[in-house]
Amino acid sequence: MKDYRYILEPYNGMKTRYRCPNCEKNGVFTRYLDQRTGEYLDDKTGKCSRAIKCGYHFSPKQYFSEGGISISEVQKKPLIWKPKLKVKLEPNYIDKIVLEESIDNRLSNNFLLYLSHIWNDEVAVHLANEYNIGTSNHWSGATIFWQVDNFGKIRSGKVMLYNPVTGKRIKQPYNHINWIHKVLKLDNFHLQQCFFGEHLLHKHKEKPVAIVESEKTAIIASVFLPEFVWLACGSVHNLNNEKTMVLKGRSVVLFPDLGCFDLWNDKIHKLSKLATYRTSTLLEEKATDNERKQGFDIADYLTKPNIINYITTNLP
Ligand SMILES: [Zn+2]
Repeated sequence: MKDYRYILEPYNGMKTRYRCPNCEKNGVFTRYLDQRTGEYLDDKTGKCSRAIKCGYHFSPKQYFSEGGISISEVQKKPLIWKPKLKVKLEPNYIDKIVLEESIDNRLSNNFLLYLSHIWNDEVAVHLANEYNIGTSNHWSGATIFWQVDNFGKIRSGKVMLYNPVTGKRIKQPYNHINWIHKVLKLDNFHLQQCFFGEHLLHKHKEKPVAIVESEKTAIIASVFLPEFVWLACGSVHNLNNEKTMVLKGRSVVLFPDLGCFDLWNDKIHKLSKLATYRTSTLLEEKATDNERKQGFDIADYLTKPNIINYITTNLP
């Protein structure tokens, strides 16, 4: 079947020609456009103009068949429909040496300074080792939260900047957040996130799992409540069937930030039954109006007195 929905993008200056994912030459790669939506297919689907020296051509048909669907299935769908690939494209990984170098360099890491400030250097170093907390010179004092998966592979890392005294994120004059694969300018990098802290699942097989949104919260909560393995999902969208496969056989407690209970709790019925889930009501039950307004998370809460007793007596 001829594929009319996807066309090679017509030439309209060098902005319409890209770096070839195969021979890595700039300005020789033409991508496929979806005529119905005006959007590109993914960045490896296209054709290299260096027919003899490279010859790379990855068609929409190949792209969809790799994802487990036939191109004719795609053609029949209405305008707005976006194909959901049944098999995810392979993620890219970051070389281990990059992570190791970032971990060796601890001299000016605002987040580690903050951890030392709450506890002491020993605890900060322990947490840095446990969670692979790296340092980046992308901004002075910046931190890297590496995402290392269940197999020890490095998916990428989030680069963030904190105030070393308050532990708050620096959002002025702009939000200081980036991905390490972007900082390193790795082209055509296909990011597939895993949980932050996922590499700890093997190490603590016997512990129930606790999931929070932010990396900082997971790290801090792990000190107060070591009964759990603490993971961060980054966003509620990452609480999906595919990413939670690594939790097979575990007992999992979700700890949403204040005001997000329903959003998180509603995810549970969409997840596989390979693990058991429940959502903690702790914050919703205990928060004051003022804390609610501030969108408290469990880390904000754990520093308050009498809370530890409450949680430990309500463990699953
Ligand atoms: Zn090429």
